Amino acid sequence: MDETVFTYGSPQLKFGPGAIDEIAWDASNLGARSVAVVSDPGVADAGITRRVTDVLTGGDISVDTFTGARVEPSDASLQEATDWARKNGPWDAIVAVGGGSSIDTAKAIALMTTNDGDLVDYINAPVGGGKNPTKPLVPVIAVPTTTGTGSESTTICVLDVLEANVKTGISHASLRPRLAVIDPQLTMTQPAGVTAAAGMDILCHALESYTAKPYTEFAAKRAEERVPYCGANPISDMWSREAVRLLATSFRTAVADGDDVDARGAMALAATFAGMGFGNAGVHVPHACAYPIAGMVRDFRPDGYDADHPMVPHGMAVAMTAPAAFALLYPADPGR
Ligand SMILES: [Zn+2]
Repeated sequence: MDETVFTYGSPQLKFGPGAIDEIAWDASNLGARSVAVVSDPGVADAGITRRVTDVLTGGDISVDTFTGARVEPSDASLQEATDWARKNGPWDAIVAVGGGSSIDTAKAIALMTTNDGDLVDYINAPVGGGKNPTKPLVPVIAVPTTTGTGSESTTICVLDVLEANVKTGISHASLRPRLAVIDPQLTMTQPAGVTAAAGMDILCHALESYTAKPYTEFAAKRAEERVPYCGANPISDMWSREAVRLLATSFRTAVADGDDVDARGAMALAATFAGMGFGNAGVHVPHACAYPIAGMVRDFRPDGYDADHPMVPHGMAVAMTAPAAFALLYPADPGR
């Protein structure tokens, strides 16, 4: 029998210039008196991490800061973050400040400070044990500083498993951040190369979720079998279409003129909308191909990223196969 039910989940959202200045209130509202701020060295150097911790401590919230999130996290970097967290935690909430890498690292910390076992137990099978968390996670507040990843909306933590040379993830509904605070002002200093790669990621999130297999074409599931990514559905369609419309008016401008406040705002909104779409519908071929492409990097160092290791930015890895994938899949639903 075909599926008749779809689900929709999303974090609470706060969006707009100045949103970040209210984060102490938002953390208190979640009952947090102590938080870990998780960030990466680039975001810390730009002063953004400090700005967030100042607002939090100003609101009488005690803060421990970890700025060692790796750009494109690995099992080793998440282990380092977990070791730090198990030594210094627990906290009432985790505040992630940065791109998808910081947010994914925060998700891993939220998981590993509340549940027993090792990271590898929770990594998707067959690479890891595919175990589900048994205890509730502390809430994650995501403050994205790079437009694109949509990690603030999703239930997945993406990582490289170095020994297996593969990119995979930890995926569970409880990994979705409780609140996303999106302040477009934080993206104003994002270099053009990062804006371009991240923008292609947003575009692919929207196009892939809009052309994902419809939820009605999956076999019917029992409630406990349903996964967060349920296929294209009327609600994810709405967000995906609107994300494409916003990108059409802002993407080129945001890359060519990073000081354009309106273009930056529209890109941040597009990233959020696309995240709300693909965070429920899922993505398909270009994202599936992106993981092995990124996993096979040897010496590529992209413009605009100050990573201390070779990497293919996620958006670039996704965009590489997207034209061929969409051309191949076109006959499946020419209307879309
Ligand atoms: Zn993506």
